[in-house]
Parts: sequence; C-alpha cells; structure tokens
Amino acid sequence: MSDRVIIIGAGQGGVEVAISLRQRNFDGEIVIVGDEPHPPYQRPPLSKDFIKGGGREGSVVLREERFFSERNIELRLNRQAVAIDREAMAVRLDDGEVLSYGHLVLATGARNRKIRIPGLDHPDVMELRTLAHAHRLMERLPALRTVAVIGGGFIGLEVASLLRDHDVEVDIIEAADRLMGRVVSHITSDYFLRYHRETGVRIRLGASAESVEHGPSGCRVVLADGTTLEADAVLLAAGVVPNVELAADAGLAVNNGIVVDAELLTSDPAISALGDCAAYPSVHAGCVLRLESVQNAVDHGRLIAARLTGDRRPYESLPWFWSYQGQARLQIAGLSAPGDNPVLRGDPETGKFSVFLFREGRNTAVESINDPGTHMAARRLLGSGIGVSPDVAADPAVDLKSLLKR
Ligand SMILES: Cc1cc2nc3c(=O)[nH]c(=O)nc-3n(C[C@H](O)[C@H](O)[C@H](O)COP(=O)(O)OP(=O)(O)OC[C@H]3O[C@@H](n4cnc5c(N)ncnc54)[C@H](O)[C@@H]3O)c2cc1C
Repeated sequence: MSDRVIIIGAGQGGVEVAISLRQRNFDGEIVIVGDEPHPPYQRPPLSKDFIKGGGREGSVVLREERFFSERNIELRLNRQAVAIDREAMAVRLDDGEVLSYGHLVLATGARNRKIRIPGLDHPDVMELRTLAHAHRLMERLPALRTVAVIGGGFIGLEVASLLRDHDVEVDIIEAADRLMGRVVSHITSDYFLRYHRETGVRIRLGASAESVEHGPSGCRVVLADGTTLEADAVLLAAGVVPNVELAADAGLAVNNGIVVDAELLTSDPAISALGDCAAYPSVHAGCVLRLESVQNAVDHGRLIAARLTGDRRPYESLPWFWSYQGQARLQIAGLSAPGDNPVLRGDPETGKFSVFLFREGRNTAVESINDPGTHMAARRLLGSGIGVSPDVAADPAVDLKSLLKR
C-alpha cells in the first residue's frame, strides 16, 4: 500500500491531520488539496475580530506556508477534488491531475445553506463562510446603513454585533421562536435576545423571509406575514449543509454528513472523514451527529492521525464551542438536548452566569456567559466524567475547582 495520505480540504480539520501526522513522525507523503486560493485559515475570527482588526489575512492564517514546506507537507491550493476512484485508490482534481493515495481523508467542511426564496442571487445578498466573503463584507461596510440578517444563529448574531459596532442598523429575521434555538437553553436564548435588543438590534422571532426584492435604493425583504423590511443589503445566515457530494458520488454512505464509525472511518476503510462534513456516533449524545466547531474538527484530525500511525481508539472528546457577540462571550461544553433541565448559577442581570443542563440528574452540558472561571472548571468536570449535582451547580459558594482535586 502507498503510504501517501491525501487530505481533501485545507481547513481547520484537514490541516490538523497533516500537522499531527508529522508530530507523530509519520514520514510518508502528505498532500493537502484545498479549493480556496488562500493559505489555510481560521474561520471564527471572520465574524468577530477580523474586520475590526483591519482585515489582515495574516491575522487568520492557521500556519504560514513555510511551516508546511519545512515539514514536507504539500499544499495544492486553488484546486478542487472532483472524483474519487476507490478501486484505483486515486483522486482526480479539477485540472485533470490524478493523485493516488494509501489513505484518503475527506475534510471538505460545509457551505452555507441557500434557502429557497426569490431574490437571493444578487450582489446585495451577502454571506459569511470564507475569507472572500469577509473581504466583501468589509468593502461594503462603510456604505451600509441598514442590513437585514436572515437567521438568528451564531453567525447571524455575531455579524449583527459587528454591524452595530459600525453603527449599522440591523434587523434579524429568525423563523424559530428563539435565538440559537437548536443549541442553547431557553435561559441563554432569552439573555441574548435582551442583550442584542439593548444594543439596538431589531429582532423578529417566528418570522420567515418569503422573498427579497431589489430596487435602485436597495433591498426589500418581504416576510410571510406581509411585513416588508428595507435594507441596503441582506446577510444570509441560515445554517450550513455539509459538503458530501464527492463522497456520495464515490458510493460512500452519506446521511446529513459523510457517515463514519467511532474511529472516523467511512464505509471504505481506506477513507476517513472529519469535522463539519462528518456524521459520527457520539458517546456524549448517544446518537449519530454532525457538529460544526473548531474543537470537533481539530480533535477529529488528531484522532485520524493517531490511527494512521498505529494508535487506534474511538472518538470520545467532549464537544465545546464558543461564540463572541459584542460584549457577551458565550462558551458551551457538552451536548444538551431539548427537555434537559436548566440550573442557573449566577444572575443573568449581572451579565455573568452559567447554565448547567441536566438529564435524569446527569450533567449533560454547561453554557457560560462572561463566566470563564466557572466554565473551565465545569468543562473539566464534564470531561472527566465527575459531573456535578444540580444542588452544587446552583450554589456559587461551592468552588467547582475543588471538586476536580478529589
Ligand atoms: C464565520 C464563522 C465563524 C465561526 N465561529 C466559530 C466559533 O466561534 N467557534 C467554533 O468552534 N467554530 C466556529 N465556526 C465553525 C468552524 O470554523 C468550523 O466548524 C470549522 O472550520 C470546520 O473545520 P473543517 O476542517 O471541518 O472545515 P473547513 O474549515 O470549512 O474546511 C473545509 C475546506 O474544504 C474545502 N473543500 C470542500 N470541498 C473541496 C473539494 N472537493 N476539493 C478541495 N477542497 C474542498 C472548503 O472550501 C474548505 O476550505 C465558525 C465558522 C464560520 C464560517
């Protein structure tokens, strides 16, 4: 078998596989194929500090290009993998080049979901997933007075804060009855609703955009109840869909993500998948799921590199995530589900508190707002399986760190 590892996708997870392989003294060939023109970069700052910091690409690079060449990691940027020949164990790129592999890693990430309403295919409708999108938003920012954001999830809310910092008026249109409804508790949703409204963001819950009309003076978003919102531009932030087409065309199992087992192997033992594009069995959730977070992509990458260098183990990392929305810094660890019981530690009125979630008395997750001390201790407790009881969680007098020492 060839000892060449080909990684499709030069994002957070794909790059981590390559770095970890070299750290583990893997001395075979490593090739990363990425369809974006830029050296590998981090996405989280794009909706946070990147624009505030002047949009310097250097501020978001994952590693300088020299880092890769020094470690003999070949980067093929601006190149797209278009087909996998599993029998020949080879990948075809968009320029016709064929690369054979001993092992293939699919790290193709996700792309923004395009909701099906008229008027979205227009230069005034922006999105934010890539560096190119961030540059476009930055270019337009000085002339923007009002933006309508479709989607009240993490990215829509982070961009709303960023726009408010530039005195842009913002309308958020969210179909669900609360913000970030898929992933956080009601207490956290309610806090962020108040927070954003206090900063001047106009938020419509239970509202859906039916169409976007374009005229000489900008856009008009028409909602299902007939309301119209005027804006200079629209930001579409209605979630993502995994990039699975390459895998599906090659006959790999796909179901809301490329289906992998507990070791992140696809239905073909010569192909792994990771990060935003992979649906894996989670020991924390007790079901198959797909997560969109840096932690998930990076830890997946490390696990695959470990397996390829002889250290096989199932994926069990505790999920964690962060989202910075203006002055409100949210950290989440673990995985909650609808119906989990929330227990509050601290007072939302102070802007600093945590919410512990419990299912049948077991701590499943913790959400912290401007409360990093509590969060780090709670995360370590969750990760080490010690957990806390609802009484302990609710009592700020109990030092959570002291529980770790027992
Ligand atoms: C604006 C923004 C803010 C975010 N903020 C946070 C945050 O605060 N905290 C957090 O934990 N997560 C955050 N995320 C999510 C996080 O960035 C992703 O979960 C993470 O990047 C996933 O890594 P990945 O390697 O799976 O995919 P990606 O990093 O998306 O990389 C996949 C790459 O593969 C490329 N690709 C796809 N198909 C092909 C092909 N056929 N050939 C070649 N290349 C291909 C894609 O173009 C892309 O460059 C944010 C994401 C965005 C967009």
